[in-house]
Amino acid sequence: MPEGHTLHRIARDLHGTFAGEVVEVSSPQGRFASGAALLTDHELIEARAHGKHLFVEFAGERVLHVHLGLIGTFTIDAAAYVGERPVIGQVRCRIATEAHVADLRGPMTCAVITPEQEDAVHAKLGPDPLRDSDGGPAWERIRRSRKSIAALLMEQDVLAGVGNVYRCEVLFRHRINPATPGERLKRASWDLIWTDLRRLLPLGVATSRIVTVDEQVEQVESALAKGEDVHLDERTSFVYKRTGEACVVCGSTVRAKDVAGRTLYWCGNCQRRS
Ligand SMILES: [Zn+2]
Repeated sequence: MPEGHTLHRIARDLHGTFAGEVVEVSSPQGRFASGAALLTDHELIEARAHGKHLFVEFAGERVLHVHLGLIGTFTIDAAAYVGERPVIGQVRCRIATEAHVADLRGPMTCAVITPEQEDAVHAKLGPDPLRDSDGGPAWERIRRSRKSIAALLMEQDVLAGVGNVYRCEVLFRHRINPATPGERLKRASWDLIWTDLRRLLPLGVATSRIVTVDEQVEQVESALAKGEDVHLDERTSFVYKRTGEACVVCGSTVRAKDVAGRTLYWCGNCQRRS
């Protein structure tokens, strides 16, 4: 499932490509035909994300609300075939100008909503490390909960945008025991998690990859600071999808179990902090 950095990347790219333009909106697949009719030939004003939700605002107080769900994609291409743009696969929604085409496929949600309805979606979501500087509202929920921090990090009304990979990796990075109940998590531990997510997620937006291993984090930060392109080696992680492998820090076996419907990976030896 796409995590929050993916949605912010899409929002950034849609905004950079289409903001200020009067766009054509269509539904080649047909399932969004009536919604597309409300948006087409309107100016695209802004694209923004909150957690895993994408909002594309059009002139006339109309907002396209998208949630990609498990399999959705939203891709932008320079129109290589002006006039004759082939539709590949089931395109629910297409946004197009003379120069560019963006195709949305397989979303869980694709609907036209009002600004008031958008506000209601925001109100149900926790703070997003890519959008909000204050993680306090998440902490207020966590410190009153008996659920494990591993489960709470996945709840979008507590914290928006974090999915399974960031959950596993950020807990490992700070050696936090994933089974720690929210009400027993130390404030200092939460501050480490929030501050680190604020550092890591922008690297995901910049590279379209989840970067969590120290050397790669430093490599990407250094490249971005110099305005250089980033070339990363093969995908790596500390614990995510490393069941049965030796922990890179202590050599213990990385463990896995289902928590909140997704597989949690962790090192039982390293991660003892509450
Ligand atoms: Zn370890």
